[in-house]
Amino acid sequence: MSRIASILLPLPLPEAFDYAEPEGMALELGDQVVAPLGPRLLVGVVTGLRDGAGHNRALRPVAERRDSSSLPANTLSFVHWAARYGVDAPGQALAIALRGSRAAPPRPERLIVASGAAPARPTPARARVLAAASQPMSAGALAQAAAVSSGVIRGLIEDGALEVRLATPSARFAPPDPARPGAALNPSQAAAAQALRGMITEGGFQAALLDGVTGSGKTEVYLEAVAAVLAAEPTAQALILLPEIALTQAVIARFEQRFGAAPAEWHSGIAPPLRRQVWEAVAAGECRIVVGARSALFLPFANLRLIVVDEEHDGSYKQEDGFIYQARDLAVARAKIEGAAVVLASATPSLETLWNAETGRYRWLKLSDRHGGAQLPRVSLIDLRETPPEPGRWLSAPLVEAMAETYGRGEQSLLFLNRRGYAPLVLCRACGERMTAPNTDSWLVEHRYTGRLVCHLTGFSMPKPDHCPHCGAKDSLVSIGPGVERVEEEARALFPEARVAVFSSDTIADAEAGRRMIQAMAEGQIDMLVATQVAAKGHNFPNLTLVGVVDADLGLRGGDLRAGERTYQLLAQATGRAGRHERAGRALLQTYAPDHAVMRALQGQDRDAFVAAEMAERESAGLPPFGRLAAVIASGADAVALESYVRALAAAAPNAPGVEVYGPADAPLGLIRGRRRKRFLVRADRSVDLQAFLATWRARARIPSSVRVTIDVDPYSFL
Ligand code: ADP
Repeated sequence: MSRIASILLPLPLPEAFDYAEPEGMALELGDQVVAPLGPRLLVGVVTGLRDGAGHNRALRPVAERRDSSSLPANTLSFVHWAARYGVDAPGQALAIALRGSRAAPPRPERLIVASGAAPARPTPARARVLAAASQPMSAGALAQAAAVSSGVIRGLIEDGALEVRLATPSARFAPPDPARPGAALNPSQAAAAQALRGMITEGGFQAALLDGVTGSGKTEVYLEAVAAVLAAEPTAQALILLPEIALTQAVIARFEQRFGAAPAEWHSGIAPPLRRQVWEAVAAGECRIVVGARSALFLPFANLRLIVVDEEHDGSYKQEDGFIYQARDLAVARAKIEGAAVVLASATPSLETLWNAETGRYRWLKLSDRHGGAQLPRVSLIDLRETPPEPGRWLSAPLVEAMAETYGRGEQSLLFLNRRGYAPLVLCRACGERMTAPNTDSWLVEHRYTGRLVCHLTGFSMPKPDHCPHCGAKDSLVSIGPGVERVEEEARALFPEARVAVFSSDTIADAEAGRRMIQAMAEGQIDMLVATQVAAKGHNFPNLTLVGVVDADLGLRGGDLRAGERTYQLLAQATGRAGRHERAGRALLQTYAPDHAVMRALQGQDRDAFVAAEMAERESAGLPPFGRLAAVIASGADAVALESYVRALAAAAPNAPGVEVYGPADAPLGLIRGRRRKRFLVRADRSVDLQAFLATWRARARIPSSVRVTIDVDPYSFL
């Protein structure tokens, strides 16, 4: 045997497997290959090659080398790094990295070209076609170019004067032009852009926090950083991560405007053939700017020089299912591996990032004012203990009054409520039964748009019954609490003349409909928009001058580690939608807890005081960013097996200094789809190698086949 190839397969396996390299295959590291596993043939990647002389175990041969780009060495290192960080199998991270390469390829196009043979019966029309067909083109384009009907073309094909070729369409990613002028920057934007350019000139791994209030022009500044990397090297690539990218077409348009070419987009809404083309073009270095969702971090960049994580505090950067990762943290890791620059941008940075900036690990670039003299909105609290809404209503008198004034001036209002559906809970007036999904600890949410009760956790849904399924009482089910659909109903009743719309992930058919809604809002075709956080992020609505937060306390309930931080960030973003242009904006927050630190910070626009208090609390408890956290979740349908496993695991916890293990406890969502769930929480000092601890611990107790164990490093959800 000449050589042994280690092949990493995109599966939850602990390591790469060895195969024999067939004579003449000449494999290289990173190559995509097809290899047998049991009876199956799978696509994997070569992660090692060594001399096979003296090896006496019969190895199965690699079946074939794929005709697809190889994974660059840095991408492979990143895949391994991400897996180790997540205490997960490298094959799981590899599966994400290969997703684009394995998407269905574009269908070949039928192109027509002159064969060189003369037609049997020359006519003027036929001559025009043959003159136009010197380059391959589609039949439609040829018919148009020669001004003939498709029959003329068919005849020439039958004659043999034209021939048909099948060609795979290639997506062309027009090269961006960094020399085009950008916006004229104001002095603080110019200073931040200068610092970023300096960082890029210096080269190597560099990290910066671009910390600027909403509307301060962070996008304009990081566009300058993108221009700088593109200009510095003809092959340099830049990646921009955005939350809710499918809806943020305005940002894409700004890239196009700045560089004269559209960037490649990477998110779940991109059709498989284009996905495959983007993947290949990124690997070939032909695509220089990618604007994408979190999984774009796993693309096979040939020469990645800059990563921007916009709205870096956003919770959607945490992937919670399957391979669990925090894209913001991984972006920094990837930049380190690539020796590239990373820019984290936010108006409300995460505590982790602020801490890195405070301790000098990241450069801290600040933009403290809105561009062009626009003022931040005035934020006031409405104390619902003093002015509660009428029973069965959710908008208090002061908020309704402000909406009326705003409407009267021809300006727009946004009512923000981070709750989809009509009512978050349906219960029976007769017996008190709460409607839940089958075998799941989660309430069913009433949706009036669809007339169904929906479980937001499992996707289960059913028509709203007219009898209580528990006691059988008729018409006894009542809707408790508000969702956006219910607030929309109330706004319509209060302002029958106004154009009221509702916007949540359920009320729009697809991303296109979402973009239309945002466009309509931006163009002033809506007077009052009732929306969840999908509308609160990053958009510019010039005529929006009032933001009303229907339930400012919502995110504080449950009280997990980040409840305060998350609520502050979300509400600062939502209120920051108001008054982004000439007209002054205001925000009204309905709350039962006006003395809460989060409400006081929002009202006083005092982020620093809030952050300082929150940091002090985290520090004294040794919680992130001052310590590390991980959750271990075990689930299974067999309650006995699950219980004995978590007991064994608890007993097997290594005794390590600086580490505390809490649990097992029933998870707050203790039952999902018939599987019981138990949780452990691990807290460790920063100096502890938490991943090594977790891997050792997990290996000490045998996992029954009916039990699934998930490790969530740095958990964001505590359910
Ligand atoms: P942020 O990302 O900080 O919220 P944006 O970059 O979206 O801010 O800027 C807010 C608005 O101000 C946008 O409409 C943007 O086009 C405009 N803007 C920001 N900076 C400039 C500038 N230097 N010149 C012209 N317009 C600007």
